[in-house]
Amino acid sequence: MIKFGMAGRSNLLEDVDISGIGSYCSENKIDLYEYPIVRGLPLYHQQIADKIKKAFKPYNIGLSVHAPYYTNFANPDPEKIESNIGYVTSSILFANEIESDRIIVHPGSQRDLERIDAISITHKNLHKLKQVLDDSNSEGVYIYLETLGIIRQMGTVEEILDMCMVDKRFIPCLDFGHINTRYLGLLKNDPAQYENILKLCKDSLPENKLNRLHIHFSKIIYGPKGERAHTTFADDTYGPDFEPMIDALLKLNIPAHVICESAGTQDIDSLSMKNYYNSLIR
Ligand SMILES: [Zn+2]
Repeated sequence: MIKFGMAGRSNLLEDVDISGIGSYCSENKIDLYEYPIVRGLPLYHQQIADKIKKAFKPYNIGLSVHAPYYTNFANPDPEKIESNIGYVTSSILFANEIESDRIIVHPGSQRDLERIDAISITHKNLHKLKQVLDDSNSEGVYIYLETLGIIRQMGTVEEILDMCMVDKRFIPCLDFGHINTRYLGLLKNDPAQYENILKLCKDSLPENKLNRLHIHFSKIIYGPKGERAHTTFADDTYGPDFEPMIDALLKLNIPAHVICESAGTQDIDSLSMKNYYNSLIR
Protein backbone atom coordinates (compact mmCIF):
# COMPACT_ATOMS: atom_id res chain seq x y z
CA MET A 1 0.00 0.00 0.00
CA ILE A 2 1.23 3.48 -0.85
CA LYS A 3 0.60 6.19 1.75
CA PHE A 4 0.44 9.91 1.18
CA GLY A 5 1.10 12.92 3.35
CA MET A 6 2.50 16.39 3.68
CA ALA A 7 5.49 18.22 5.16
CA GLY A 8 5.41 21.37 7.26
CA ARG A 9 2.58 23.89 7.20
CA SER A 10 0.41 24.54 4.17
CA ASN A 11 -1.12 27.99 3.56
CA LEU A 12 -4.36 26.83 5.18
CA LEU A 13 -2.45 25.78 8.31
CA GLU A 14 -0.14 28.75 8.58
CA ASP A 15 -1.63 29.98 11.87
CA VAL A 16 -2.80 26.61 13.18
CA ASP A 17 -0.97 25.27 16.24
CA ILE A 18 0.65 21.85 15.77
CA SER A 19 -1.94 20.37 18.16
CA GLY A 20 -4.63 21.09 15.53
CA ILE A 21 -2.82 19.62 12.53
CA GLY A 22 -3.36 15.96 13.46
CA SER A 23 -7.16 16.28 13.40
CA TYR A 24 -6.92 18.31 10.19
CA CYS A 25 -4.92 15.50 8.55
CA SER A 26 -7.36 12.90 9.81
CA GLU A 27 -10.43 14.80 8.57
CA ASN A 28 -8.79 15.23 5.18
CA LYS A 29 -7.55 11.62 4.94
CA ILE A 30 -3.89 12.63 4.92
CA ASP A 31 -1.99 9.50 6.07
CA LEU A 32 1.44 10.93 6.89
CA TYR A 33 3.04 14.02 8.36
CA GLU A 34 6.69 15.10 8.12
CA TYR A 35 7.89 17.44 10.83
CA PRO A 36 10.93 19.51 9.90
CA ILE A 37 13.38 20.57 12.61
CA VAL A 38 14.89 23.21 10.40
CA ARG A 39 17.36 24.72 12.88
CA GLY A 40 18.23 21.61 14.86
CA LEU A 41 16.68 20.29 18.02
CA PRO A 42 14.22 22.86 19.42
CA LEU A 43 14.99 24.15 22.92
CA TYR A 44 11.77 22.78 24.44
CA HIS A 45 11.85 19.63 22.33
CA GLN A 46 10.24 17.36 24.92
CA GLN A 47 7.20 19.60 25.29
CA ILE A 48 6.94 19.97 21.51
CA ALA A 49 7.31 16.22 21.03
CA ASP A 50 4.55 15.56 23.57
CA LYS A 51 2.26 17.94 21.71
CA ILE A 52 3.04 16.26 18.37
CA LYS A 53 2.39 12.80 19.77
CA LYS A 54 -0.92 13.91 21.26
CA ALA A 55 -1.88 15.60 17.98
CA PHE A 56 -1.12 12.75 15.58
CA LYS A 57 -1.03 9.39 17.37
CA PRO A 58 -4.78 9.14 18.12
CA TYR A 59 -5.41 9.35 14.36
CA ASN A 60 -2.73 6.83 13.43
CA ILE A 61 -0.89 9.30 11.21
CA GLY A 62 2.62 8.15 10.32
CA LEU A 63 5.30 10.63 11.39
CA SER A 64 8.74 11.38 9.99
CA VAL A 65 11.34 13.97 10.97
CA HIS A 66 13.33 16.07 8.52
CA ALA A 67 16.78 16.81 9.96
CA PRO A 68 18.20 20.34 9.43
CA TYR A 69 18.65 21.12 5.72
CA TYR A 70 22.28 22.24 6.06
CA THR A 71 23.87 18.87 6.97
CA ASN A 72 26.97 18.20 4.86
CA PHE A 73 28.83 14.92 4.95
CA ALA A 74 31.09 15.95 2.05
CA ASN A 75 33.06 18.14 4.43
CA PRO A 76 36.71 17.13 5.02
CA ASP A 77 36.88 19.01 8.36
CA PRO A 78 36.52 16.47 11.24
CA GLU A 79 35.11 19.11 13.61
CA LYS A 80 32.38 20.01 11.12
CA ILE A 81 31.58 16.32 10.71
CA GLU A 82 31.16 15.99 14.44
CA SER A 83 28.51 18.74 14.36
CA ASN A 84 26.83 17.14 11.34
CA ILE A 85 26.65 13.81 13.12
CA GLY A 86 25.20 15.74 16.07
CA TYR A 87 22.39 17.12 13.87
CA VAL A 88 21.51 13.56 12.91
CA THR A 89 21.68 12.12 16.42
CA SER A 90 19.55 14.97 17.82
CA SER A 91 17.05 14.35 15.01
CA ILE A 92 17.00 10.68 16.07
CA LEU A 93 16.38 11.77 19.66
CA PHE A 94 13.46 13.90 18.52
CA ALA A 95 12.14 11.09 16.31
CA ASN A 96 12.25 8.75 19.32
CA GLU A 97 10.34 11.31 21.36
CA ILE A 98 7.53 11.45 18.81
CA GLU A 99 7.70 7.68 18.23
CA SER A 100 8.83 7.95 14.64
CA ASP A 101 11.47 5.75 13.00
CA ARG A 102 12.08 7.87 9.87
CA ILE A 103 14.69 10.63 9.79
CA ILE A 104 15.35 12.40 6.50
CA VAL A 105 18.90 13.72 5.99
CA HIS A 106 20.55 15.78 3.22
CA PRO A 107 23.95 14.29 2.30
CA GLY A 108 25.54 17.66 1.47
CA SER A 109 27.32 19.55 -1.28
CA GLN A 110 30.62 19.13 -3.11
CA ARG A 111 31.30 22.90 -2.94
CA ASP A 112 34.86 23.48 -4.24
CA LEU A 113 35.83 19.80 -4.16
CA GLU A 114 36.10 17.52 -7.16
CA ARG A 115 33.07 15.26 -7.36
CA ILE A 116 35.08 12.09 -6.92
CA ASP A 117 36.74 13.46 -3.76
CA ALA A 118 33.42 14.71 -2.37
CA ILE A 119 31.97 11.23 -2.85
CA SER A 120 34.82 9.48 -1.05
CA ILE A 121 34.73 12.02 1.84
CA THR A 122 30.97 11.52 2.13
CA HIS A 123 31.42 7.75 2.37
CA LYS A 124 34.14 8.10 4.99
CA ASN A 125 31.93 10.36 7.08
CA LEU A 126 28.87 8.14 6.70
CA HIS A 127 31.00 5.32 8.10
CA LYS A 128 31.69 7.59 11.10
CA LEU A 129 27.96 8.19 11.47
CA LYS A 130 27.36 4.45 11.31
CA GLN A 131 29.93 3.94 14.08
CA VAL A 132 28.21 6.52 16.29
CA LEU A 133 24.83 4.86 15.69
CA ASP A 134 26.32 1.44 16.51
CA ASP A 135 27.97 2.75 19.67
CA SER A 136 24.75 4.40 20.86
CA ASN A 137 22.63 1.31 20.17
CA SER A 138 20.44 3.22 17.72
CA GLU A 139 18.32 0.32 16.55
CA GLY A 140 14.93 0.46 14.86
CA VAL A 141 15.55 3.88 13.32
CA TYR A 142 16.11 4.57 9.63
CA ILE A 143 18.17 7.37 8.16
CA TYR A 144 16.81 8.43 4.77
CA LEU A 145 19.50 9.93 2.54
CA GLU A 146 17.77 12.28 0.13
CA THR A 147 18.44 12.84 -3.56
CA LEU A 148 19.13 16.59 -3.86
CA GLY A 149 18.10 19.08 -6.54
CA ILE A 150 21.13 21.29 -7.22
CA ILE A 151 23.73 19.76 -9.52
CA ARG A 152 26.68 20.50 -7.16
CA GLN A 153 24.85 18.97 -4.22
CA MET A 154 25.55 15.33 -3.39
CA GLY A 155 22.86 12.83 -4.11
CA THR A 156 22.16 11.50 -7.57
CA VAL A 157 20.09 8.31 -7.40
CA GLU A 158 23.21 6.19 -7.98
CA GLU A 159 25.22 8.09 -5.35
CA ILE A 160 22.43 7.69 -2.79
CA LEU A 161 22.13 3.95 -3.49
CA ASP A 162 25.90 3.62 -2.96
CA MET A 163 25.72 5.61 0.29
CA CYS A 164 22.93 3.33 1.51
CA MET A 165 25.30 0.35 1.26
CA VAL A 166 27.25 1.78 4.22
CA ASP A 167 24.69 0.78 6.85
CA LYS A 168 21.57 -1.31 7.33
CA ARG A 169 19.79 1.83 8.64
CA PHE A 170 20.47 3.96 5.53
CA ILE A 171 17.61 4.01 3.00
CA PRO A 172 16.99 6.31 0.02
CA CYS A 173 14.57 9.21 0.17
CA LEU A 174 13.84 9.65 -3.52
CA ASP A 175 12.90 13.28 -4.06
CA PHE A 176 11.51 13.12 -7.59
CA GLY A 177 11.16 16.91 -7.74
CA HIS A 178 14.91 17.15 -7.06
CA ILE A 179 15.74 14.38 -9.52
CA ASN A 180 13.81 16.33 -12.15
CA THR A 181 15.66 19.59 -11.44
CA ARG A 182 19.16 18.21 -11.23
CA TYR A 183 18.68 16.64 -14.65
CA LEU A 184 16.89 19.74 -15.97
CA GLY A 185 13.48 18.24 -16.66
CA LEU A 186 14.33 14.52 -16.97
CA LEU A 187 11.05 13.20 -15.52
CA LYS A 188 8.82 15.88 -17.03
CA ASN A 189 10.22 15.20 -20.49
CA ASP A 190 10.58 11.43 -20.16
CA PRO A 191 8.17 10.00 -17.55
CA ALA A 192 9.39 6.45 -18.36
CA GLN A 193 12.44 7.35 -16.26
CA TYR A 194 10.35 6.93 -13.10
CA GLU A 195 10.20 3.24 -13.77
CA ASN A 196 13.91 3.04 -14.58
CA ILE A 197 14.83 4.76 -11.32
CA LEU A 198 12.50 2.62 -9.22
CA LYS A 199 13.74 -0.54 -10.97
CA LEU A 200 17.29 0.46 -10.12
CA CYS A 201 16.23 0.79 -6.46
CA LYS A 202 14.43 -2.54 -6.58
CA ASP A 203 17.52 -4.23 -7.99
CA SER A 204 19.95 -2.63 -5.54
CA LEU A 205 18.11 -2.58 -2.22
CA PRO A 206 17.34 -5.47 0.10
CA GLU A 207 13.63 -6.08 0.50
CA ASN A 208 13.35 -4.63 4.02
CA LYS A 209 14.74 -1.32 2.70
CA LEU A 210 12.64 -1.32 -0.46
CA ASN A 211 9.51 -1.88 1.62
CA ARG A 212 10.32 1.25 3.64
CA LEU A 213 11.09 3.54 0.72
CA HIS A 214 10.44 7.24 1.38
CA ILE A 215 9.54 9.65 -1.42
CA HIS A 216 9.35 13.44 -1.57
CA PHE A 217 7.29 14.86 -4.37
CA SER A 218 6.77 18.42 -5.52
CA LYS A 219 6.99 20.43 -8.70
CA ILE A 220 10.11 22.58 -8.61
CA ILE A 221 11.29 25.55 -10.69
CA TYR A 222 14.85 25.09 -11.95
CA GLY A 223 17.63 26.94 -13.74
CA PRO A 224 20.89 25.80 -15.33
CA LYS A 225 22.34 24.81 -11.91
CA GLY A 226 19.26 22.84 -10.89
CA GLU A 227 16.65 23.54 -8.21
CA ARG A 228 15.44 27.11 -7.65
CA ALA A 229 12.10 27.06 -5.81
CA HIS A 230 9.27 24.71 -4.98
CA THR A 231 5.98 25.45 -6.70
CA THR A 232 2.52 23.83 -6.72
CA PHE A 233 0.62 21.25 -8.77
CA ALA A 234 -0.88 24.18 -10.73
CA ASP A 235 2.51 24.46 -12.49
CA ASP A 236 2.63 22.98 -15.96
CA THR A 237 6.04 24.23 -17.08
CA TYR A 238 8.61 22.58 -14.81
CA GLY A 239 6.88 19.48 -13.46
CA PRO A 240 7.31 16.61 -13.10
CA ASP A 241 3.86 14.99 -13.22
CA PHE A 242 2.97 12.63 -10.40
CA GLU A 243 0.74 10.17 -12.27
CA PRO A 244 3.55 8.23 -13.96
CA MET A 245 5.34 7.97 -10.59
CA ILE A 246 2.31 6.30 -9.01
CA ASP A 247 1.84 4.10 -12.08
CA ALA A 248 5.45 2.92 -11.76
CA LEU A 249 5.21 2.32 -7.98
CA LEU A 250 2.11 0.20 -8.54
CA LYS A 251 3.61 -1.69 -11.46
CA LEU A 252 6.71 -2.57 -9.41
CA ASN A 253 4.66 -3.17 -6.27
CA ILE A 254 6.64 -0.77 -4.05
CA PRO A 255 4.77 0.33 -0.92
CA ALA A 256 6.32 3.80 -0.51
CA HIS A 257 5.50 6.70 1.79
CA VAL A 258 5.01 9.77 -0.43
CA ILE A 259 5.38 13.20 1.19
CA CYS A 260 4.24 16.26 -0.72
CA GLU A 261 6.39 19.39 -0.39
CA SER A 262 4.43 21.79 -2.58
CA ALA A 263 4.84 25.51 -1.84
CA GLY A 264 1.79 26.09 0.36
CA THR A 265 -0.59 23.54 -1.18
CA GLN A 266 1.06 20.36 0.11
CA ASP A 267 -2.17 19.22 1.81
CA ILE A 268 -4.38 19.64 -1.26
CA ASP A 269 -1.70 18.32 -3.62
CA SER A 270 -1.01 15.22 -1.51
CA LEU A 271 -4.73 14.46 -1.78
CA SER A 272 -4.61 14.77 -5.57
CA MET A 273 -1.99 12.04 -5.53
CA LYS A 274 -3.96 9.90 -3.11
CA ASN A 275 -7.16 10.26 -5.14
CA TYR A 276 -5.36 9.26 -8.30
CA TYR A 277 -3.88 6.23 -6.52
CA ASN A 278 -7.28 5.23 -5.12
CA SER A 279 -8.85 5.51 -8.58
CA LEU A 280 -6.31 2.92 -9.81
CA ILE A 281 -6.55 0.38 -7.02
CA ARG A 282 -10.36 0.28 -6.75
ZN1 LIG B 1 14.84 17.48 2.11
